[in-house]
Amino acid sequence: MQQNQLSFQKEDVIRKFQEEKLRELINYLHLNSPFYKELFKHHNIAPDQICTLEDLTRIPLTTKEDLQQRNLDFLCVPRDKVIEYSSTSGTLGSPVTIMLTDNDLNRLAHNEYSSFVCAGGRPDDVYQLMLTLDRQFMAGMAYYSGIRKLGAGIIRLGPGVPSLQWETIVRIKPTAIVAVPSFIVKLIQFALEHGIDINKTSVKKAVCIGENIRNTDFSLNMLGKKITGHWDIQLYSTYASTEMQTAFTECNEGRGGHLQPELLILEILNENDQPVGPGEAGEVTITTLGVEAMPLLRYKTGDVCMYVNDHCSCGRNTVRLSPIIGRKKQMIKYKGTTLYPPALFDLLNEMEEVADFVAEVYSNDIGMDEVLLHLEAVNYSEETDRKIRAYLQARLRVSPHVRYVTKDEIRAMQFPESGRKAVKFIDRR
Ligand SMILES: [Zn+2]
Repeated sequence: MQQNQLSFQKEDVIRKFQEEKLRELINYLHLNSPFYKELFKHHNIAPDQICTLEDLTRIPLTTKEDLQQRNLDFLCVPRDKVIEYSSTSGTLGSPVTIMLTDNDLNRLAHNEYSSFVCAGGRPDDVYQLMLTLDRQFMAGMAYYSGIRKLGAGIIRLGPGVPSLQWETIVRIKPTAIVAVPSFIVKLIQFALEHGIDINKTSVKKAVCIGENIRNTDFSLNMLGKKITGHWDIQLYSTYASTEMQTAFTECNEGRGGHLQPELLILEILNENDQPVGPGEAGEVTITTLGVEAMPLLRYKTGDVCMYVNDHCSCGRNTVRLSPIIGRKKQMIKYKGTTLYPPALFDLLNEMEEVADFVAEVYSNDIGMDEVLLHLEAVNYSEETDRKIRAYLQARLRVSPHVRYVTKDEIRAMQFPESGRKAVKFIDRR
């Protein structure tokens, strides 16, 4: 099987490769990118001054706002070379269009091929894709093309509908699924309620997208435990974003998603845009390698993460990213403490009394953040309510507002008409 060889090379070989690609990128942007041409000119940066990874840090950072406000200025090719128009989900602000050429689509396939290989994928696997492949969603298409390159089988079932998912699992016998972890929990509930013996099915592994299944020390969080407690399958976490067109995916070790060094230069930066050490939280900042239509240079993703760089038993000599601690913009400043939504989700997932939830944040009269939790209780009673409130008070040290809603109301909040992923967090600030 063809492997992604660079990841297994020594650190200096990886670095040399990246610096060569970086020089190519700078020259390419200097010639073709309206946005970066202007940026280089404005900051008196000549392409031949940027040769090493250290030199890269002299270039100003690119923000999400740059990409939103000047979207088309990032395009480096004529429009007739563009094949695919993907877009970001627009969870934070207006959506951004990311255009891809034929070469970019090949790069995307290589990226996801390497990701699936990293996550134990083999040509004799069959993957059931429980996610959308349309609505300009890059990831769905990426999984499809990566699995195709791997030579494994694909069942494009789409998101939701547990009964149909199970019917298909029983009929076609996939060995793996690709799904959002909280949906896997729903699948398990459905199986339990309908007498399906999940551990006798053909599924042996799950590639988990969109939500954390681990704590930052890489132990399984409550969502991860809720899955493996019932279902004896191996979980692999993967993290990616449309803008970076690249995924970080866990190997069998399950201790963070591996960087793919031929596709991305990674920096983790603190509040002052300085690099942090291993185990310290910072913002994921990326430079794309090998992207033709819309390459990005030192792009701040808004995602806060940590990294580890110790030896991995799989043999890849690349840094690994922790689960996302949160999105920088979604940080909740909460009565003297700060909180990221994923930590709040972990708390809610831990409570047996809570069947499902949506967390809402808004600013109060004096400009402070307030949290309102819309909860679907398993069996609502005053006793349950007391228990939930006491638990939140103990764990958060402050009490959020709580409102109980029905299953239908939760569903309506989580799946608005225009969405392609379940909404668990509403930011009204
Ligand atoms: Zn590994």
